[in-house]
Amino acid sequence: MEVIVGKMAGFCPGVEGAIKKARTALETRDRVYCLGEIVHNKQVVNSLEKEGMITVESLDEVPNNSSVLIRAHGEPETTYKKAESKNLELLDATCGKVFSIHKKVEREKEDSFIIVLGKKNHPEVIGTKGFAGENSFVIETEDDILDAYMKYEITDLGRVYVVGQTTISSSYFDILAKEIEKEFYEAEVCIDKTICNATEIRQKETLEMSKKFHTMIIIGGKNSSNTKELYKIAENNCQKVYLIETVEEIKDIEFTGIENIGIMAGASTPKESINEVKEYLENL
Ligand code: SF4
Repeated sequence: MEVIVGKMAGFCPGVEGAIKKARTALETRDRVYCLGEIVHNKQVVNSLEKEGMITVESLDEVPNNSSVLIRAHGEPETTYKKAESKNLELLDATCGKVFSIHKKVEREKEDSFIIVLGKKNHPEVIGTKGFAGENSFVIETEDDILDAYMKYEITDLGRVYVVGQTTISSSYFDILAKEIEKEFYEAEVCIDKTICNATEIRQKETLEMSKKFHTMIIIGGKNSSNTKELYKIAENNCQKVYLIETVEEIKDIEFTGIENIGIMAGASTPKESINEVKEYLENL
C-alpha cells in the first residue's frame, strides 16, 4: 500500500510562531496563561500544559500583573484594554495575517460598513468583529445577508467592506461575496478576500490528492475549522475519508486491498501526529 503525506500537511506559520512564543515564554517565566486553547489541537494543548501553560477562558481568571499569551487567532480590541487595566504582560502571538485584517477593518470602519464572512463563534471572527466596531456584521450563511443589509440600511454609510475568516473555503467565500454584491447593489462594495494562502494551499493540495487517492485520512482537531474544511473537500471526491485526531482512531479499521492512501493534516496538527499515522499505515 502506498502512503503519501501531503507536502503542506501540518503547522502553518502562524501556529508555529504561536507555539514557539509559548515555549520561549515558559522557559523564562514561572507561569504563563493562554487566553483560549493555543491551537485547536488537544495533543499540542496538553503538551504545553505539562510544560506549565494555564489555559483560561477569560482574563477575569488571570491574576493582575501576570503574563498572558494571545494566540494566533487574535483577540478583539476590548481584550487589549482589559489587559492594560489589569497590568498584564501581553505576549501577543496574533498571526501577522490576522493582525493585518484587524488593521484594515480599523481603517475602513471610518467610512464603511464592515462585513466579516465566517463562523460567528470562531475566535478569529470575534476578534475581527471587535476591531470592526458597531457598524459591522458577521455573515455565516446566505440566510444572514438580509439581516446584514437591514443593519447596514440604518447607517448613513454608502460603502461596504467585506473581509473573511482566514480559514473559510475559497469557493464558499466567492459564493457569499457574489450574493452580497447582489443584495447591496446600491452601495459601493469592496471585497477583500482575506483567506490565508496557507489555508488555500492546503485546500488545493487536498483537492488534488482526493482525486487521485482511493482513501484519505485527514488529521487534526475535530474543533479545527481548517481541518474540517479539508475533510469536506476530500469527502466530495474520495471514496473513503476519515477525520481523526490520533492514530488510535484508525487502529480498528480494515485497510486490506487498498492500493493507496493520502494523508493530509490541518494547520494546527503537529508533525508527530502525522508521522505516527504514516508509520502505522506503512507497517500494516
Ligand atoms: S491559517 Fe494563516 S492566518 Fe491562520 S494562523 Fe495560520 S498562517 Fe495565520
